Formats: sequence, structure tokens, C-alpha cells
Amino acid sequence: MSPFTPHAVLTFAGTDPTCGAGLQADVLTLASLGCHPLAVVTAITVQDSVGVEDYLPLDPEWIVDQARSVLEDIPVAAFKIGMLGSVEAVMAIAEVVSDYPDVPLVLDPVLASGRGDELATETLIDAMKDMLLPQTTLITPNGLEARRLAMDEGVDSEAPDLEECAERLLDMGCEYVLITGTEEQSPAVSNRLYGTEGLIQTLNWERLPGSYHGSGCTLASAIAGLMAQGADLLEAVKRAQEFTYQSLQAAYRPGMGQHIPDRFYW
Ligand code: PLP
Repeated sequence: MSPFTPHAVLTFAGTDPTCGAGLQADVLTLASLGCHPLAVVTAITVQDSVGVEDYLPLDPEWIVDQARSVLEDIPVAAFKIGMLGSVEAVMAIAEVVSDYPDVPLVLDPVLASGRGDELATETLIDAMKDMLLPQTTLITPNGLEARRLAMDEGVDSEAPDLEECAERLLDMGCEYVLITGTEEQSPAVSNRLYGTEGLIQTLNWERLPGSYHGSGCTLASAIAGLMAQGADLLEAVKRAQEFTYQSLQAAYRPGMGQHIPDRFYW
């Protein structure tokens, strides 16, 4: 028996049978970093490395029961939330995490697959903004997601710039916003971290060739894992980007679609 108990991180996410993204990506990432993953299923997807064919949101009562039974048993040092699947799931998860206000929460707003298959409806996005953002320590949208979350259809004729998006997300109640530049057209990938005081840090990464399945999940769960192990937010964000970059650099292509990051690159 080991005298050492790894820090536990509870992830709420959709399953991905390719193990490139979703719950399986979170589990691999957390295990690679030396955390103990606790994995609550929110939805079941049918997908391959090319795209998502379909998904089945899980009954919210089942989501709550999965979470409550592990939470009553095992102390959790961080939460990570990925694909939610339904408005009812958002409401259920928001209620569960509200009982743990001191546990850091990293929200990866999964709105679509890499191919563009929709994984969230507009009402789900509204629920996420109302119920989860005020409880979020850090939200990790890419540029597309940030614009979709921040755009006010009734007011904006075009999407606000990323700085304005970050400001609006902070106004919705999260503490920090990390906007990743993976979807932008720039030669380097610029990831920008914002807090209530404005831009805190920009980190530029070489843009790797190819398209990756589960890069966002890797980054968000690595941040949650490192915070669970005691890193402060800035340090966790920096080290998680390095971890994600290394995982992408070691990615392989097992099928006919996207590359899958190797979270055990080391
Ligand atoms: N979670 C699930 C279940 C998914 O199917 C996907 C994408 O297809 C994602 C999350 C997001 O993946 P990525 O990290 O590539 O944005």
C-alpha cells in the first residue's frame, strides 16, 4: 500500500470512445499529472477521430447521484467541467458545485467538436452563463467560443473583440478567463489570461501543423490538476500550457481524422 494519496479532481464530461477528447482525455491528463481522476459522465457521444455523430445527454439525476456519491466519500481538490449535454445537466451540476465554494472550478465551455458538430444549444449556453459562470474560477474558451459566449445578439451587430469578450465573461461572474488562440489565423498560438484588472499574461506557442482532438480538454484538466496539487492559478495556467504543448507535439494519428494528443509523452 502506498503512503501517498494523490489529489483528487472531479471532472464532469461527455464520454468519447476515441479517448481523444472528453471524459477519457481528462482522465488520461489527470493521471499523467499524478492526480486521481474522479469521472462523472454527463453525456454519451458517438464519434470517431473525424467528428461527433450523435450524443445522448444523461438523466440529470444520474449525474447528481454519480457526483454526490464520490463527493461524500473522497475529498476533492478541484473541479473541471467539460461537455454538459443538456440545460437540466447545467442546473444539476451548478447545484452540486455550489456546495463546494472553496474548491477551484475550471470550466471548458464545450460548444462544438473540432469539425463543428454542435454540442450545445443556445439555451444551454444561457444556462451555463447564468448558473455556472458565477461559480467558475477559470473559463477556458477558444476565440470562437469566447465570441459566442460573449456576443449579445440583441445589441451587437458583429462579434466583440477578444478583450471585450473577456471583460464580458468576467462581468458574468467568473474570476479569470483564458482565451486560447488555437482557432485564430495568426502564425503563433497566443493564449491570453485575463482577470478583473485586465490582461494578466500572453503566452505565445509555435502553431503545430495538423488538427488535434482533445487539446482544449487536455489544457483545462491539466490546469485543474495542477491547482489541485497546490499551484496558484498563474503557475497552473503556465505549466498546463507547457504540458498541452508537449502532448500535442507527441500526438499521433490512429485513424482517419484528427491527431490525438499523447498525454503520456514523458
Ligand atoms: N468533450 C467531448 C465529449 C467531445 O466530443 C469534444 C469534441 O468533440 C470535446 C469535449 C471538445 O474537444 P476539444 O478539446 O478538441 O475542444
